[in-house]
Amino acid sequence: MASSGKSPEEEHPVKAFGWAARDASGVLSPFKFSRRATGKKDIRFNVLYTGICHSDLHHLKNDWGSSKYPLVPGHEIAGVVTEVGSEVKSFKVGDKIGVGCMIGSCRTCEDCADNLENYCSKKVLTYDGARYYDGTMTFGGYSDHMTVDEHFAIHWPENLPLDGGAPLLCAGITTYSPMKYFGLDKPGLHIGVVGLGGLGHVAVKFAKAFGAKVTVISSTPSKKEEALKNFMADSFLVSRDTEAMQAAAGTLHGILDTVSAVHPILPLLSLLKNHSKYIMLGAPEKPLELPVFPMLMGRKIVAGSSIGGIKETQEMLNFAAEHGITADVEVIPIDYVNTAIERLAKNDVRYRFVIDVGNTLKAA
Ligand SMILES: [Zn+2]
Ligand SMILES: [Zn+2]
Repeated sequence: MASSGKSPEEEHPVKAFGWAARDASGVLSPFKFSRRATGKKDIRFNVLYTGICHSDLHHLKNDWGSSKYPLVPGHEIAGVVTEVGSEVKSFKVGDKIGVGCMIGSCRTCEDCADNLENYCSKKVLTYDGARYYDGTMTFGGYSDHMTVDEHFAIHWPENLPLDGGAPLLCAGITTYSPMKYFGLDKPGLHIGVVGLGGLGHVAVKFAKAFGAKVTVISSTPSKKEEALKNFMADSFLVSRDTEAMQAAAGTLHGILDTVSAVHPILPLLSLLKNHSKYIMLGAPEKPLELPVFPMLMGRKIVAGSSIGGIKETQEMLNFAAEHGITADVEVIPIDYVNTAIERLAKNDVRYRFVIDVGNTLKAA
C-alpha cells in the first residue's frame, strides 16, 4: 500500500499494466497499477523489451531481505517515447529510449556532482522496495509503459538492436564501468573474466573491443567452445584444473569476477600479475574468504563496483553501438516469464532472457 493510502491501481492518474510477484514465492502474474502523470521534466515511453537480470531473481524471492510486494521487476528496459513534459530538452515523441537500474538520485551530493548517481546514498532504484519522491513504490519494466525523469533516460543509438541492447543497461554498464575506472580498458592487457553468464559474456565482448587478450575462467568446461568461438576469447581455464591454473599463475593484468555464488578466490587471485586488480561484480549472499597474504606479497587490489552513472551508461551504449556489441539473447513472450526465471536459477540460458513486452504484454 502506498503512503497515500491508495492502492497501486488508484494512486496515480495513468493506468498501467504489468506482471508482478505478490509474495516471496516470486511467481509473477498479471497486475493492474498506475503511473504518475507526465511531469515537466518527465518522459513517458512504451516499453518494448526488458531483460531479465539475475538480480530480478533475487529480488523476486526476497533473497536480499529488501523486497516489497507487489513487485514488478525489470531494470534493463528499451522502449519508445510517447509523451514529453514541457521542460524536456533532449527527447521527443518517437525517440528510442533506455532505462536502467536507477530513476532518481539526490542530484546534489559529491557522487551526483561527479556523474556517479549510482553511488548516491539517496538514489531511487527502478523497482523493488524503492520509493519515488512522491512516496509511491517504483515498478519496473515488466510493464506496458513507464514515466521517467529525463536525467535518468538514455538515448538509444540508431544502429543498436533494442532486444540485444536492453541487457546492456545493467549487465553492460556493470562490466564496462569498472574496466574504465580501474584502467583495464587499455589495448594489450590480459584480462580474466570469471563466469560466463549474463555479465560475463558481455564483459568478454567489451574487453575484446578495448583490445585486450581475454581468458575466461569457469568452474566447468561446458562453455569452452562458446567462449572461444562465439565470443572470441583467447583462452579458457577451468578453475578446478589445478595444473592449468598453476601454469597460468601471474599472467593477468586484471580480473572481473561476475560470479554471484560463494566461491574460493585464492586460486583466482594467484592468476594476477603483481600490482594488479581483482574486481568483484557479482553479489554473493554470504561473505567470501579473503586471502590476505597473496594480496600483500603481490600488492594486489581486491575491489568492487556497481553499475555506473548515467553519463557513463550513455557512453557505454554508444560504444556498444560503434563496436557492434549486444548481449546474446533469448527473446521470450511475457507468459513464459515464470519458466524463464526457473531456467535462469539453473543457469539454463544463453545468455540473457529478454521479454518481448511490446508484442506480448496485453492488458487483461
Ligand atoms: Zn541487473
Ligand atoms: Zn546524490
